[in-house]
Amino acid sequence: MITEISSIQDWLKANYYKFSSSIKETECYKWSRWNKDQSTHMFPCVCQTRNDDCIFAEMYYRVWQVGQLLEQKDKLVNALLEYENRKGDKGLLKQWFYNHRNLGEGILSLEESIKIATRKEPYVTMEVVLPKEEIKHLSKFKEVYWSLV
Ligand SMILES: [Zn+2]
Repeated sequence: MITEISSIQDWLKANYYKFSSSIKETECYKWSRWNKDQSTHMFPCVCQTRNDDCIFAEMYYRVWQVGQLLEQKDKLVNALLEYENRKGDKGLLKQWFYNHRNLGEGILSLEESIKIATRKEPYVTMEVVLPKEEIKHLSKFKEVYWSLV
């Protein structure tokens, strides 16, 4: 199954109600906990059989993470401009890499297409395709940042 999202923030708003009711239906307590404090560390799902509610909750959470990155868009755009100005100077690029390590780490897991495991055996996934245009600065930053490692 593939879901295509055309606007991340609109999708998050439109699906918040569904997310809230899903987390009440699933036995996976971690989603309610996350919804309370948005703690950044999330453990993998341990449901014996994942129901649709747990799967949807993960989908919402994964899109939300990208939404959080998008809120730092100004920072990203500035960092990319800075990068362009420093191109060719190894020492300055090293400094750039170090200065932006928080953004870099946060963006490491960004994928244009999010895959969510719905079953372990046989292994089945569903896919969420993010809007390329909307996340282009994120993708660019990821590419540039991780090319310096
Ligand atoms: Zn679960």
